[in-house]
This record gives sequence, C-alpha cells and structure tokens, in this order.
Amino acid sequence: MVPQWVIEKKRDGGTLDAAEIRAFIEGFTRGTIPDYQMAALAMAIYFRGMTPQETAVLTDAMMRSGECVTFDAWPRPTADKHSTGGIGDKLSLMIAPLAASAGLAVPMIAGRGLGITGGTLDKLESIPGYDTRLSIDAFKRVVAEAGCSIIGQTERLAPADKKLYALRDVTGTVPSIPLITASIMAKKLAEGAETLVLDVKCGRAAFMRTLEEARALAQSLIRVGQSLGRKMGAILTDMDQPLGRAAGNAVEVAEAIETLKGGGPADTRLLTLEITSRMTVLAGLHPDPAAARIDLERRLDDGRALEVFRRMVAAQGGDVRAIDDVGRLPQPGAAVEVAAPQAGTVAFVDAQQIGRIVLLLGGGRRATTDVIDPAAGVDRLVQAGERVERGQPLLRLLAKNAALAETLVADAVAAVQIAQGPVPERRLILEKL
Ligand code: URA
Repeated sequence: MVPQWVIEKKRDGGTLDAAEIRAFIEGFTRGTIPDYQMAALAMAIYFRGMTPQETAVLTDAMMRSGECVTFDAWPRPTADKHSTGGIGDKLSLMIAPLAASAGLAVPMIAGRGLGITGGTLDKLESIPGYDTRLSIDAFKRVVAEAGCSIIGQTERLAPADKKLYALRDVTGTVPSIPLITASIMAKKLAEGAETLVLDVKCGRAAFMRTLEEARALAQSLIRVGQSLGRKMGAILTDMDQPLGRAAGNAVEVAEAIETLKGGGPADTRLLTLEITSRMTVLAGLHPDPAAARIDLERRLDDGRALEVFRRMVAAQGGDVRAIDDVGRLPQPGAAVEVAAPQAGTVAFVDAQQIGRIVLLLGGGRRATTDVIDPAAGVDRLVQAGERVERGQPLLRLLAKNAALAETLVADAVAAVQIAQGPVPERRLILEKL
C-alpha cells in the first residue's frame, strides 16, 4: 500500500477498499505513516465522504488498533449507552446503575468534558476517592461485582482514535460524519457491549445543530454498529436547553443521586427511563417499552438502582457517605443567586450560554491541561414553562468566590428568556430511531 495513492484515490472521489483502509490505520497507529499523510486523508474524507461499507471498515480498523474487552460467556447480556454530549447531561450516572439493577451488565467507558459540554468522568471524579483509571481487568471485576462500571479511555483502547482525534482537532476535520462515526464507535465497540443505545443531541449546545444533521449521524452510527453485529437503538433529543436544574460536576452528581432516589427533575427522569428501557428491550430483558417502563420506574423509586450506584462507587474507591449526604461532595466557596429582572413565564433557557457560564466559573476546561473546579457550576435552574416573579431566583452561580460569580450575573440573566404570554412546550425527545 502506498499512502499517497490512497490519499489521491479518496481525494478524487474513489471508494477505498478494506485492505487500503486497514493498512493505512495500522501504519498510522505504528507511526510508519506520518501525521501529515493521515491529516491529508482525513481532509479528503471530510470533502468526499465515505460509503457505509468504508465507514464500517474504518471503525473496525480503529477499534482493532488496541485492546478489545470481551465478556464471552457472561451470565448477563451486556449493554451501554452513548451521548454525543450536552449541558447538564448526567444521564450515564443514572442509566448505568438502573440498567444493571434490571439485569444488564454495563461496561461504560466515558469521556471528559469537551468545549462547553460536560464529561461523565469529570462528574464522577467529584466523588471523593472515585477512581476512573482502572485497568481493563479491574474494570471487568467491577462490572461482575456491581453490575456496572464507568471508567475513562485507557491508553490501550482504540489508540488510533486518540491520535486521529488530536489531528482532526487542529486540521479542521472534526465535523465529518464518517470520521465522527468511526471515532465514537471504535471506542464504544472496543468496550464489548452487545447492545448500544445512542442519545444524539441536537441544538445550539450540541455537536449537531439541526435535526437533519443529528439524524444523519444517528443513522450512520446505527448502520456501523449493526454491520459489526451489535443491537443498536437511538433517540434524538433537544439540546437547545439544558437537561435538569444543575450543570457542573459535583452539582450534577447531587442531581443524579436525587434522581436515583426517585426524585429529580422530570426531564432527567424521563430520559433516564427512555434510554434505559431501550437498552433492556433491545437486550431482551423486557418484552416491550411499556413493561420496561413500569419495572424501571419501580427500581428508581424503591432504591434498587441507587444500591447498584453505591456498589459501583464503593468498588471504584469512592466515598459512599457522599451518596447519603451530598454535602460531602466538593462545596463551592460562594453561591450567588441570580434574580429575575421581571415577572412572567420562563420561555427559554439557553444551554449554550449556561455551558459557557459553567466553564467560566471553573467547571470546564479552556485547554485540555486545565484543572477543573469540581464544585463550580449552576444549580436551582428554572425551566421553560415555569412562572417566576420579579426578584425570584432564576438560578445559583457556584464558584470558588463571590467575586468570580458576580462577573457572570448579567450573562446568567441574559441566558433566561421570560415571556409575558403562554410559551410553547419543550419537545425533549425529537425522534426515535
Ligand atoms: N466524540 C468523539 O469521540 N469523536 C468525535 O469525532 C466526535 C465526538
């Protein structure tokens, strides 16, 4: 295989054969194909696209660039979910234990925050002692003991993706559906789950801004997963507005625990149940979504899902006392209430602005090397459709000190639109695939 011939073939709109794609990814992973040739191929793919068959081979080659976890001969079906990321999206923290309580094994490899979107690993690390850096053997042990485990990507898992993502980030080749598909699925398939349900976010704070883009990505992800033998499902959900009433790290863990205790905001509970029921039905544990819903609601309300979360946290070294008393999670130096400038009905909460505010409060990273403040974020956030009086709190800004929080009060006021008349109802689930 001559790398420049492969680049030229894709540049001119040709279809690469499996051997060419595999040899290219192998060479790039080993270092015999330099970054500049990989970047040129990524740009050619960005402009010319890939057929479903090419995308599946690229995904498979990237998955095989490292170790693949196997759960052969396990007594429980394995399943996982993946979200393309948003503001206040703490769903993995509830879905993994809820699905495990219903009888699935959930091996979940999660990511850190990217831009303004939060990351499950950063959230979990706000639980004192929780270790996200387990070896693959320890990961499998926790899944066996607790029913689920959530860890970070190891060096050995899909290393081609790690290298390629860094290159794409600096060469303008991130927003390409075949490249995004291969990147997400290489990691998700390497963790070994037989069933995968995707939550593809759509809106101003999401990777995919329009419904058409979100649908195209979901279809591509489903096709690749199915062609590699997995059971796949997807929902497209709104990310114009944040999910739940908290965005940050420790505050989202607190809201997740509230939801695992049967409470929590209605939108958070709804999506938790929707995604988990898709997982259990696809995996064959429940006969249909209605039966799944009844069983899973009970598991949230009677504490069985919370018990699995406790076991997972304990198995990964976390302080389980923080589950009974969320006051043991990192606390901010200051909590500043932001008052409504006028009375009315909340019409819209801008997720992009809230994400920006959380990042500036210290809850996200500007550069990958930044250290986040786990206590920073916003909580007690109002939601669309709620009535507010002038002077009533719209949200709280949580920061290391009041001076930092005060700098974001005007932005927080601007993020919440208040209308005088009736407001349209928010559509949270846009489509099911
Ligand atoms: N998330 C990933 O893991 N990869 C992409 O390419 C985009 C989002």
